[in-house]
Amino acid sequence: MRWGDFPKWGHWLADWAAQYHAGLRDRPVRAQVKPGSTLAALPDAPPDTAQPIEDVIADFERIVMPGITHWQHPRFFAYFPSNASPAAVLADQLVTVMAPQCMLWQTSPAATEMETRMMDWLRQAIGLPGDFAGVIQDSASSATLAAVLTMRERALDWDGNASGLAGQKPLRIYCSGEAHTSIDRAIWVAGIGQANLVRIPLAPGPMRGMDPAALDAAIRADLEAGYLPAGVIACTGATGMGACDDIAAVCKVAQAHGLYTHVDAAWAGSAMICPEYRDLWRGVEMADSVVFNPHKWLGTQFDLSAHFIRSPEALTRTLAIQPEYLKTHGADGIINYSEWSVPLGRRFRALKLWFLIRAYGLDGLRQMIRNHVAWSQALCERLRATPDFEIVTDPILSLFTFRFVPPGQDPEQATLDMITRINDDGRIYLTQTRVDGTFVIRFQAGQFDCTADDIDTAYDVITEIADDIRKG
Ligand SMILES: *Cc1c(COP(=O)(O)O)cnc(C)c1O
Repeated sequence: MRWGDFPKWGHWLADWAAQYHAGLRDRPVRAQVKPGSTLAALPDAPPDTAQPIEDVIADFERIVMPGITHWQHPRFFAYFPSNASPAAVLADQLVTVMAPQCMLWQTSPAATEMETRMMDWLRQAIGLPGDFAGVIQDSASSATLAAVLTMRERALDWDGNASGLAGQKPLRIYCSGEAHTSIDRAIWVAGIGQANLVRIPLAPGPMRGMDPAALDAAIRADLEAGYLPAGVIACTGATGMGACDDIAAVCKVAQAHGLYTHVDAAWAGSAMICPEYRDLWRGVEMADSVVFNPHKWLGTQFDLSAHFIRSPEALTRTLAIQPEYLKTHGADGIINYSEWSVPLGRRFRALKLWFLIRAYGLDGLRQMIRNHVAWSQALCERLRATPDFEIVTDPILSLFTFRFVPPGQDPEQATLDMITRINDDGRIYLTQTRVDGTFVIRFQAGQFDCTADDIDTAYDVITEIADDIRKG
């Protein structure tokens, strides 16, 4: 295939995309294939001779499509959304065609300057003060790793990168039991060690945030015992049931001990474009860094993670590396965003944010999020009023958890049975978690094209399957 063939296949792709989206409601949300089926359909060895692109496309339909779980299905209620809005998809296709590698300002000035402007638009949109600077990371995991490395270097007076951790006091990082596993991995990769990630007990109450007094006590005990406390990772909208730490209280304790604070709002951060939800992260302006994923709820498809930092100097002092071939002589005052992240190479991600915000406007995006929250809360109330359903955690934004408790049956078995049957049915897709050991089904509404009818379908599917289980 050559570029001369591209118009033909580009048109084919545009039609395919439109038809795919128009037909999504007729497909099962979760792939229904058995393990190994895609692998078995692919030849053992690569071809030596060129094959017509027609054949490749035919095999794509036959082999790949059955094994796709449709994250853009309007009835995707599992995990968190991973929204691809058509405007952002269009932008990404432009980027893919040019395929610039945007590690330095000079390797595509427009990409760098677009990123600076878009991150500032996003900062204003979520109500962070003007002293936060933003950078786009590939994922929240990467942003959190960058934050943990910054905590480490700051606590070691910038000597960790140079001398390693041998001979240093053990560093300590604090978070709640609800915080995401990306923090555990960041701790491993940073050489701090799982044993030095201190899980702070939760305060009583529905938000399941860490107890600030327990945080203070843990830091004091660690100082006493000769550890080196380095930072705290707080969460707004944790993955299980949406737990939110009291950011103001956590930051206050952290700052009293001179510790760096990072806020993981990977999912919930998108909702902060609506001022009425900002109470959930009250005090966020006190944090040193914040991450959220526009690639989850907003509609700039994977990957695009927004990382805001109050003092980028601490981050670049931790991560910047300047071999001779990366120096950009004579170009003062420019930003090289590769100095703000662990990977050197970077895609031009800001373009899809520009297309998204212009094509829908902040008002359009706010309306989408408000709808999801309202619909999810309405479904929660319907289920609460339905016999044999128990709401385990009330909605935090658009996420709640429930279980099925038919009389005379073990609730865990009945709930497990319910989610298995729901996902085999395919009309909706849900996932599970545990809350204080109780096995629950999570429901979150968040897909870009979801409508109130899709939520009604969710209710119908859930209650139909409940009837089936009652019948045994
Ligand atoms: C999804 C999620 C993450 C991980 O996000 P990636 O971008 O996939 O790394 C981290 N924290 C929370 C709270 C999340 O919901």
